[in-house]
Amino acid sequence: MYPGHHFTKARVIDYYIKISKYLLPHLKNRPITLKRFPEGVFGEFFYEKDAPAFTPDWVKTFAVPRRSKSGPDIRYILVNDLPTLVWLANLANLEIHPFLHRAPQIQRPTAIVFDCDPGEGANILTCARVAFMLRDLLAELDLQSYAKVSGSKGLQLYVPLNTPVTYAQTQPFAKAIAELLAEREPKLIVSEMPRVFRTRKVFIDWSQNADFKSTVSVYSLRAKSHSPYVSTPVEWDELQQAMDREDADSLYFKPDEVIERVRDRGDLFSVVLTQKQKLPREVAAYLAKQNGGKTGKIRSLELYEHKRDFTKTKEPKPNLPHRSRQGGRRRFVIQKHAASHLHYDFRLEMHDVLKSWSVPKGPPFKEDERRLAMATEDHPLEYLDFEGIIPKGQYGGGTVMVWDIGSYDLIEGNYYKGFMRVHLSGQKLKGEWTLERFREEPGNKWQLRKTGGNTRTVSKTRDDLSVLTSRTMSEIARAADARWESNRT
Ligand code: MN
Repeated sequence: MYPGHHFTKARVIDYYIKISKYLLPHLKNRPITLKRFPEGVFGEFFYEKDAPAFTPDWVKTFAVPRRSKSGPDIRYILVNDLPTLVWLANLANLEIHPFLHRAPQIQRPTAIVFDCDPGEGANILTCARVAFMLRDLLAELDLQSYAKVSGSKGLQLYVPLNTPVTYAQTQPFAKAIAELLAEREPKLIVSEMPRVFRTRKVFIDWSQNADFKSTVSVYSLRAKSHSPYVSTPVEWDELQQAMDREDADSLYFKPDEVIERVRDRGDLFSVVLTQKQKLPREVAAYLAKQNGGKTGKIRSLELYEHKRDFTKTKEPKPNLPHRSRQGGRRRFVIQKHAASHLHYDFRLEMHDVLKSWSVPKGPPFKEDERRLAMATEDHPLEYLDFEGIIPKGQYGGGTVMVWDIGSYDLIEGNYYKGFMRVHLSGQKLKGEWTLERFREEPGNKWQLRKTGGNTRTVSKTRDDLSVLTSRTMSEIARAADARWESNRT
């Protein structure tokens, strides 16, 4: 996972097991955003909010309506036990990003977070300076705060609340504090988003205090550099010492050091879970007056306004899956194709094309059963739901049926490595399959293997029925209502 440091997935899992006693209380019932690095820290990564389709039953999830108000609820994963934590580590979910609230009270944060992010020319020591200013200002309002290094470039300050309060109160409060400090120290601090303003300064990001924002968890690994640094709570003395010695390195902690620290000092952040603090009433009243004016409409309210249903709903099975912008989940189709030889074309959406294989005997259903899959040319995305005929004389001339369509999750591997373990959520096919390229030249020979257990076979009758139109091959041929001209590609 961290190639330069021989920090393998086994060590990632080992770290999460060792830290679990301290980490799990911080994650309990908090929805998380996944951040998966299937290729390790140097590879592509993706965020996922919705639990992948292959999520086991024993992993707890919590359904929240989408902000767009359309589409099925997002099923967030809750990391409430060690098996779930290990399962996530095994999915190369190196970083854990929980929300500030706990299910089911998703409008109620248990803390305020100030994320101090250094711009160009500033570093973690500059952030430490700002953290002290924040701490002192908050102390004037009778609020105690606690710092952790982010494990990346900056640090985060937490103000425990653990009292009834909503994001509609905490976000304007955090914003006002950030703006006040930016006004006092304009050479050091900014409270606005654009990066251009940040050179040599620290950006106090107050916007994390919202029901749709997650922040990296205490004790989470980071995947920001070649080293496996951990987001670690620090004492104010340590921050002071690092500043005095101008020793930024002392504020970066590796997994072994963190395990040692918690054994020596316990969990410096347990107080964030227990200390009860209230926002000062007069500040809250002042901000309430401003709300809707300068601070703009608070987005968390928008979400709260609309009707919600917290019970898990069965996702409706649309005929055509929508394109997902969530990275992980993409679409697949299997087209039954009566060309010179009958075969099945297996296509996976990948980087704006459909990667394609011709599988003469169709997909296997029994564990470890293998079928030859010949890689064919990429197809355009519009081909995904094509059903009809390709005129005779053209390449692939014959009848095409949408035999199965749905979404897939990549569990492991990638196309270019010639190895992909995928989970298909189609209407006929559900479960795991593995595609593997043979080593020999010319390299278009792959095999499609059933992995992850047996799956239900498809009956002869269903094998000859389109999942889009319920037509048979001969009905599609007779209707001839759609033609694909291969020169369109
Ligand atoms: Mn074909």
